[in-house]
Amino acid sequence: MNRRDERLPGTGGRLVVVGGGASATAVLHQLARHPDVRPDAVTVVDPRPAGFGLAFGTTDPRLRCNTSVDVTSLHRAGQSDLLRYLSGRGWPVSRADFVPRALVGQYCRERFAQMRSTLAARGCALRQVTARVEAVRSAVRPGQGYLVTLDDGSTLDATDVVVAVGGDQPRVPEQLRDHADHPDLLPGPYPSARLRALPEDARPLVLGTKLSAIDAALVLCTARRQITLCSPSGELPAVREHLCRPARPTGLLAGLRTLDHRSPDFDRALTKLLVRAVRQASPGPSPALGKQFGTEPEALQRLGTELRQTEAGANAWQSVIAELIEALNDWTQGWPHRDRDRLLARFRPLIARHISAIPVSSARSLAQHGLAGRLTVRRGTPVLAPAPGGGWHARWHPEGRAEHYTQVVAASGYRPPAVCTHGPDLLAFGTAACSADCAPPPTDAHLRLTPPGDGGPERIWMVGAAGGARTAIVNYLWTAAAQAEVVARTLAAA
Ligand SMILES: Cc1cc2nc3c(=O)[nH]c(=O)nc-3n(C[C@H](O)[C@H](O)[C@H](O)COP(=O)(O)OP(=O)(O)OC[C@H]3O[C@@H](n4cnc5c(N)ncnc54)[C@H](O)[C@@H]3O)c2cc1C
Repeated sequence: MNRRDERLPGTGGRLVVVGGGASATAVLHQLARHPDVRPDAVTVVDPRPAGFGLAFGTTDPRLRCNTSVDVTSLHRAGQSDLLRYLSGRGWPVSRADFVPRALVGQYCRERFAQMRSTLAARGCALRQVTARVEAVRSAVRPGQGYLVTLDDGSTLDATDVVVAVGGDQPRVPEQLRDHADHPDLLPGPYPSARLRALPEDARPLVLGTKLSAIDAALVLCTARRQITLCSPSGELPAVREHLCRPARPTGLLAGLRTLDHRSPDFDRALTKLLVRAVRQASPGPSPALGKQFGTEPEALQRLGTELRQTEAGANAWQSVIAELIEALNDWTQGWPHRDRDRLLARFRPLIARHISAIPVSSARSLAQHGLAGRLTVRRGTPVLAPAPGGGWHARWHPEGRAEHYTQVVAASGYRPPAVCTHGPDLLAFGTAACSADCAPPPTDAHLRLTPPGDGGPERIWMVGAAGGARTAIVNYLWTAAAQAEVVARTLAAA
């Protein structure tokens, strides 16, 4: 079967959008607004319903954004569009709030439907195809666009392609890969209904202590269950009350540009720069820095301290995080990705807990579960083996103690999108196509794919996590909103 689109009256083009999550919706929003972008037809291909990706497709109300309403928006202009959407439906929210991610999913879905109507009114048919894209290759006749191959064997032809696939493949630890079919192994915490369905007296081990592991703990910690989270660092993220656009930008980007990231003095200079920014951003007299961070080696104790500090208003650092993310992205824009990764590795110990800090309400729930003895956080990763009667034996190092867990939940994050440019196709999708250390697809400053070799930019745009070649922190809707503007502007010009 060949799904070649009928040409509709319009000013040009058949656009195929690979992925229909939040980033794709942000692109559609910009296309619908831009008077000079008038494709004849837009086809969105995604095995999931449009608007619901991995993070915002969740339905559990306990799973909240860790970004405030202010920056969780499909576009950047003016007041937050999510704030407008929620207020318009009677939700009593303010720009600083962290709302359940399910509400953001609903927002994306409704906006997607609106974009469809707006585009239809301009003579552009938007349709959805429920499938996975396997490859994008050049059309047989050069200059005639692209053939997009789907996993049902059909193809779409396209004059332009936007790739917005997110990273939906969980990072399953090496030692569990041979046990992928084990009935007591959950390869990721989503859909969360799988976690809720575990027995009331389950004793699961969650591999990870960052955002998706915390999601798992928030869903699992009920009834008589006992949950253990573990990771090599044994560290939980810091706690914050807001992540908003800065009221008083501190000039971090200019400061970062004065640093030499190869210098041995880099860490000290960076710390000095950040401390100055925190003092400057603080709305009142800045609390002593020593009073804004917990120092306890034990994760739940440190969480308790940082929760109290945040509740007491002794958390000025949170006011610089949105500016810092933006500055990091701008500063490293277009760096070779290995240099950028090296830089981020040096940043990590200083700021990673703060960039991906958790909402104060989630911290409160975790602290309560810890106090009630339902939640433990451990440093280290045990050696795991399936137990003969079901569940898992875990041997902890260095003491070598063996313990039994009823399930293992892999929650060590997600792999970058497996989009490969190294084979015969322009783009091949899927983990089989790409190795773990494949570089992200190279793009130019306008996010257009520039395949290795012959150079010229394709009419293929990479956004969200797929745009990771040029942008350091892509796991953030505010970043996708900015990328979407670039895509619409260049599509209009190209
Ligand atoms: C646990 C978690 C919490 C997060 N919380 C926040 C937050 O609070 N605030 C924030 O700004 N960001 C958050 N993020 C990051 C968030 O995912 C991004 O901001 C944004 O939602 C990504 O949107 P996306 O469309 O790029 O990816 P997704 O929303 O993941 O959508 C990608 C879509 O592509 C589809 N797809 C994948 N491969 C193919 C293929 N080959 N063919 C066709 N379709 C394909 C998938 O089915 C999916 O629907 C979080 C991420 C996670 C994992």
